[in-house]
Amino acid sequence: RSLAASNSDLLAQREQHLAEVQEHYYVNPPHLERGWKHFLLSTDGRAYLDMVNNVAVLGHSHPQLSERVSRQFELLNTNSRFNYSAIVEFSAKVTDRLPPSLDQVFLVNSGTEANDLALRLAMAATGRHHLVAMGEAYHGWTFLTDAVSTSTADNPNALGTRPDWIHTLESANSYRGLHRGAQAHEYARDAVAKLRRLATDGVEPAAFIAESVYGNAGGMYLPDGYLDEVYSTVREMGGLTIADEVQVGYGRLGDWFWGFEQQRVVPDIVTMAKAMGNGYPLGIVATSRAVADAYRAQGYFFSSAGGSPASCVVGSAVLDILDQEDLQGNAQRVGTHLKQRLLELADKHSIIGTVHGHGLYLGVELVRDRATLEPAPSETQAICERMLDKGIIIQPTGDRMCILKVKPPLCVDISAADYFVDTLDSVLTTGW
Ligand code: PMP
Repeated sequence: RSLAASNSDLLAQREQHLAEVQEHYYVNPPHLERGWKHFLLSTDGRAYLDMVNNVAVLGHSHPQLSERVSRQFELLNTNSRFNYSAIVEFSAKVTDRLPPSLDQVFLVNSGTEANDLALRLAMAATGRHHLVAMGEAYHGWTFLTDAVSTSTADNPNALGTRPDWIHTLESANSYRGLHRGAQAHEYARDAVAKLRRLATDGVEPAAFIAESVYGNAGGMYLPDGYLDEVYSTVREMGGLTIADEVQVGYGRLGDWFWGFEQQRVVPDIVTMAKAMGNGYPLGIVATSRAVADAYRAQGYFFSSAGGSPASCVVGSAVLDILDQEDLQGNAQRVGTHLKQRLLELADKHSIIGTVHGHGLYLGVELVRDRATLEPAPSETQAICERMLDKGIIIQPTGDRMCILKVKPPLCVDISAADYFVDTLDSVLTTGW
């Protein structure tokens, strides 16, 4: 019945059942039926190039993943208090890719859960409750993760509604913030000064949380040395450091598996999700034994589905396939080509203010004026709609909603990347 329903019927039914806050992409979204690699197919027989699905890191409907998880469903699925090998194999596969100090994992079901638990671990380990977050950040939707989510894109009141134990560092946006380009290192100086002022006022942070590459803000790097300076100061104050790798980790950056490697730091706690399940709900908090053990005194942890045999088999299969298909290498190769081509497009179309990012995490920032950097959100939205007409799925991000977030499945190839750039070129040339 649902396949037969017209697209407008389907949208009407959706509105009937889903609270309005659960928005959908596009004015008239295609009715999707299946995905294959970096393509999505609609019921009216159209194929769309998917430039936005960073969760489907292996591509859609990967046969080996389907086979391994279906086999596990046929064998056993139960909670993590039972004794089975999949949980040990997966946990070891993840910790093998992390710095040796981070050898303890908690298996959960999403990025929000991972960040919520990470913050609670820090609170338990330090006996404190003040938290420091960065501006223009998103870390999740639970009470605690929402409190450290400072982005105003979805909630214009975000900064005015945080609890008073949340402290925000200036968004280290080197493109349009207080300190630009070569001056961007000054953000670290300001952050350290703010932390010292907090200390003078008797505020002792439990933790500082940030994405290690600024994903929510469009995939831009933090200024060189930023995390090193901020982490050192937070640690001097007795706080812990949390790297949110939910979006930027797991090979997407091409040259680095984790975003924190780009900043040459080792966090006290790392959170990951999204890509690690290729769409299956999966998340992990990794930390040291000292931090993990401190939680026992103050917290309770059990997740009915987190760490189940099925989710661990998914997690292991994703890592195996990432390696077998050298998808991190592909992110590096295709990402380098794509960024180069987008930069060439910027020479032709003045609406492209800049291209952020690395590997297959890029952000094309659209501005009305390159001198004033006036954001172009309505143009960005219209361009996304026009790209859809032409068979490409792409969406805006950032506090000003003027950055095209380019983060396709990591199996995307050069010809698809070229098709994306050529189509964007034609939309920017002929109008939207
Ligand atoms: N952290 C970051 C940086 C994210 O981008 C997101 C999701 N957009 C989350 C956390 C929350 O992850 P989830 O949607 O899996 O709860």
